[in-house]
Amino acid sequence: ATAQPVLELDGLTSGYNGAAVLRDISLSVRPGEVVALLGANGAGKTSTLMTISGIVKPMRGRVLFNSADLKGTSPDARARLGVAHVPEGRGVFFGLTVAEHFRLASRGETLDAAAAYRYFPALEQLSGRRAGLLSGGEQQMLALGRALARRPKLLMIDELSLGLAPIIVERLLPVVRDYAKDSGCGVLLVEQHVELALTVADRGFVLSHGEITTHGDVAALKANPELVLSSYLGEQ
Ligand code: ATP
Repeated sequence: ATAQPVLELDGLTSGYNGAAVLRDISLSVRPGEVVALLGANGAGKTSTLMTISGIVKPMRGRVLFNSADLKGTSPDARARLGVAHVPEGRGVFFGLTVAEHFRLASRGETLDAAAAYRYFPALEQLSGRRAGLLSGGEQQMLALGRALARRPKLLMIDELSLGLAPIIVERLLPVVRDYAKDSGCGVLLVEQHVELALTVADRGFVLSHGEITTHGDVAALKANPELVLSSYLGEQ
């Protein structure tokens, strides 16, 4: 736990059209660590990931990747540095087969399809099938597999559980954790399903109305009634 963080947010304030939706966010993710970013609908979880990806520009504060300030670094350049983002809704291409997703590399990029198939063996069986014909859980496997095929150093996953049965989520999350531990990739896991997220996370941060209200290691969070409140009541 003493390794340099792969990601650090330092006093980050961010938003849209000059209006802040995130205020003074500080958090870190170390190599091999799974960090849960929790909070109700509209708390600012997706905006945090979009700011790390470089799609939304911070108003104040810094995003540090392996200690380097990413200010001025484009989303594409961040991706090339090793920042992977599995968006809410998965971002797979319905008309392409599973195998085609692993051939669809941008310039200079080589995708490690074997790694994706190793962590998600079901994908190999489905390699000839179009993504649009996959179940929700299979599509999520494909999105995760596609992200880890890029051998990221930081993997951000937005609402993996969206639209999936809990039993499917319970199968996918441990794979994400195993991948983090095996590869040393840091994972920032955005989830509304607090209990499921805390089964695989090492630490967690709770966002409420754009601010971090609680953070700590998972054992401490599980014992924290404030977490339960802020996560289940929703943003008013
Ligand atoms: P959800 O789980 O619903 O995505 P969230 O915690 O990820 O919730 P965000 O999507 O980051 O929250 O939204 C935080 C706030 O920012 C909300 O008040 C939302 O209305 C606002 N917001 C999000 N995207 C935009 C945008 N493109 N333009 C303006 N406001 C936005």
